[in-house]
Amino acid sequence: MNYTKPKFKEKYGNYINGEFIDPIGGQYFENTSPTNNQLIAKYPRSQKEDVENAVDAANAAKEAWGNTSAAHRSSILQKIADVIQDNLDEFAAIDTYDNGKAIRETVNADIPLAVDHFRYFASVIRAEEGSATELNENTLSLIIKEPLGVVAQIIPWNFPMLMLAWKVAPALASGNCVVLKPAEQTPSSATFLMEKIGHLLPPGVLNVIHGFGPEAGKPLASSSKVNKVAFTGETTTGQMIMQYASKNLNPVTMELGGKSPNIFFNSVMDQDDEFLDKCIEGAVLFAFNQGEVCTCPSRLLVQEDIYDKFMDRVVKRTKAIIQGDPFDPNTQIGAQASNDQYEKILSYMNIGKDEGAKVLCGGEAFKASGEYADGFYIQPTILEGHNKMRVFQEEIFGPVLAVCKFKDEAEAIEIANDTLYGLGAGVWTRDAHQLYQIPRAIKAGRVWVNCYHDYPAHAPFGGYKKSGFGRENHLMMLNHYRQTKNMLISYDRNKL
Ligand code: NAD
Repeated sequence: MNYTKPKFKEKYGNYINGEFIDPIGGQYFENTSPTNNQLIAKYPRSQKEDVENAVDAANAAKEAWGNTSAAHRSSILQKIADVIQDNLDEFAAIDTYDNGKAIRETVNADIPLAVDHFRYFASVIRAEEGSATELNENTLSLIIKEPLGVVAQIIPWNFPMLMLAWKVAPALASGNCVVLKPAEQTPSSATFLMEKIGHLLPPGVLNVIHGFGPEAGKPLASSSKVNKVAFTGETTTGQMIMQYASKNLNPVTMELGGKSPNIFFNSVMDQDDEFLDKCIEGAVLFAFNQGEVCTCPSRLLVQEDIYDKFMDRVVKRTKAIIQGDPFDPNTQIGAQASNDQYEKILSYMNIGKDEGAKVLCGGEAFKASGEYADGFYIQPTILEGHNKMRVFQEEIFGPVLAVCKFKDEAEAIEIANDTLYGLGAGVWTRDAHQLYQIPRAIKAGRVWVNCYHDYPAHAPFGGYKKSGFGRENHLMMLNHYRQTKNMLISYDRNKL
């Protein structure tokens, strides 16, 4: 299959109340591709008035949409999934060009997972049942779930379509109207989606506004006319958004940063077989898909008695990674998402070197060839050191793997939990006790055991500690988008 750069118009509008409209102040920003530093298109640099417009449209639509049946909303979500599925290659090419990530990822993971997300929430709302309890012979308690109303959603650039699906599908499924702000670095797939699915939804149910965080995101999260704020992004931005939302006592869900440990116990090297091959892939590949994943296993912990042999294989495998042209299906690492990211990652490599970390491979920018020569590429890099170094403690969000040794189970747990974050973790072992005990001891919301980076729609995902709170995926997500109404009904003829 040959994938090519998608074509774009010169400029796009916000999608508000069922149509694309220009920003009120007439300001636009230029969106460029990190693959080659070329202009993609201009997008609205929305301000408070644009946000208010979108929030008003959502409020006008909320009652009718909230009263639709689950069967009706389910059929619309299924149609949205069909549209994304039918245009999978185009969505994948747009996210690759906008974000820089390799096409093999967007084609095989980002977009199929987004399709499945809409299908999953279309399905679970059809299967839900309520609750009725007889509190005594004359009193019945009914528990009823109601939509919140209007939901503000702010998402990052690292999985433009998938983060949209994670937010939008459960919110619409639960009967809410949405105002979504995509990241300014990756506005394109949300716009393309609204071009394709806008007609499937009543005006005002799903609105998309573009722009920068302080100008468009802040008024959205601060609005007294929204009933919830759902955010995915950096921990420091999440802290600000909680402050904005607190003025209205609005509930928030926070999916934030991470510094996930990936732990390999000595039993993985008991035999030289397929399982060991899988472990090596598990150590390398999930760290080196640009590294711009919130659960990137960016701290590799290897038991000391297998360290040298294991790391020998890890380094060899890392050096064999194919890097460059993001549209080549064989490419494993494409471009970093922006010049800012590129500079930040390079500066962290220098911090690591200055701290005394040993560079086992990589350590520099990567020079892509031909039409991608001006893009933002970085070599997959392994830094050997200890867990107190900044490169082990701070989220780099790039293809930089920090590796250290541990002696025994207790030390592995201590190092794994010695972090501000608690989003993901990996545990690799053949020991049945470790399979259960180590994940239970790790303070993280998702612990993969003998696997990594799998995101099924029906498994809850979210953080401990400074990685946030609330969960995404899984039907429990519906409750983050609903109120609980309790009706207490008395059947007693005389007694109050
Ligand atoms: P970011 O916090 O800079 O931006 C995220 C979004 O917030 C963007 O849309 C941005 O415009 C907006 N924003 C920025 N400042 C704002 C403000 N003052 N008010 C309102 N909105 C504002 O994050 P990013 O750099 O786009 O994304 C990378 C981060 O996202 C990483 O920390 C990563 O770990 C995290 N992330 C977490 C998950 C998860 O599920 N936990 C998933 C993906 C990414």
